[in-house]
Amino acid sequence: MISINQENSIDLTTGAGWEELKSYFETHRKILIVSHKSPDGDAVGSALGLALVLKTYGHQVQVAVPDDSPGFIRWIPGHKEVLVLNRKSGKKIPQVIQEAEAIFYVDFNTTDRLGPLEALINEFDGLKIHIDHHPGGSEFSHFKLVNEAKGSASELVYDWIQQMGYGANISADAATCLLAGIMTDTVGFRVSSSYPEVFMTVAGLMACGADKDRINDEVYNSYSVGRMKLLGYSLLEKMVIIPECKTAFIALSREEMNRFDHRKGDTEGFVNYPLSMNEVHFSVLFTEQEDEIKLSLRSKGQFPANQFAARYFAGGGHLNASGGRFLGTLEEAIRYFTESICQFYSAYHQD
Ligand code: 5GP
Ligand code: MN
Repeated sequence: MISINQENSIDLTTGAGWEELKSYFETHRKILIVSHKSPDGDAVGSALGLALVLKTYGHQVQVAVPDDSPGFIRWIPGHKEVLVLNRKSGKKIPQVIQEAEAIFYVDFNTTDRLGPLEALINEFDGLKIHIDHHPGGSEFSHFKLVNEAKGSASELVYDWIQQMGYGANISADAATCLLAGIMTDTVGFRVSSSYPEVFMTVAGLMACGADKDRINDEVYNSYSVGRMKLLGYSLLEKMVIIPECKTAFIALSREEMNRFDHRKGDTEGFVNYPLSMNEVHFSVLFTEQEDEIKLSLRSKGQFPANQFAARYFAGGGHLNASGGRFLGTLEEAIRYFTESICQFYSAYHQD
């Protein structure tokens, strides 16, 4: 029997909890799946892949996110039905939460990553299941399948499906969602994927009919002219290298992005380019948003992008891929960054 009042999260990676979960889902069918703000390919892919499989088994499933996905992932199967809090579809979310018998939290490690969705979700007092691959999260669920060694939450969703006995019925659409999550979070298997299990999962998904070529076309071969020119401008005119800390950064104002007809998601991936230089180990992209400066941080090797993001920019994430924010102007963010990175870099290399 599942006790909703249990104090500690049951760690599914130990093998405990699966039988309880199986019997719970035999009689509880209303499920909500939520993921983080500024959803990326893995957030949307893991949530929709799970949703499509659960629907096959007769569950009533909704997916909700705080804000819209970037254009490069909106083609993904099931995307039209996602409830987006700051859109018209978001009006349904309170009712869905009220009726839900279980909520899955996928691809994030602290509930504040839900942004304005957090307050609504906190009203929920039913069964909570956490599936994620970010390190250092807080405990907020009854069951967790969390493994920071994995390159994506989509792989853990695949594991969850298999362990629950739902693996025999993964549709081609569901498989495409999960493979899209894996491919985007590993940047096409360039990072966080040097272990055999990821390729076994990919093989399993391909056997179910996952459309790898479509993912590649939709995600990497669908750029607008504006995006391409903004990338060229960013690398030629805006990239700054700080050789003494092996760091590069690009800072883009709203005016600059608008000049290139910017659409949400256009700057995705820009931060990876400076890392392909031998002398750069840490790369940061600043983008001016309506109410804050957003930072995307990427590193090579053991340099902890997440620790830097957490200490100086109210963020976090993975060792090599993190996010953060700054309240102030772009110029102030850059000044604060250049001071803090040199401090952090020398302290890191003294330890
Ligand atoms: P991105 O640069 O793509 O926005 O984020 C990179 C990674 O860091 C993603 O895995 C994302 O979930 C995580 N991330 C981004 N912003 C934050 C944040 O504010 N806090 C935490 N803990 N993780 C973040
Ligand atoms: Mn992820």
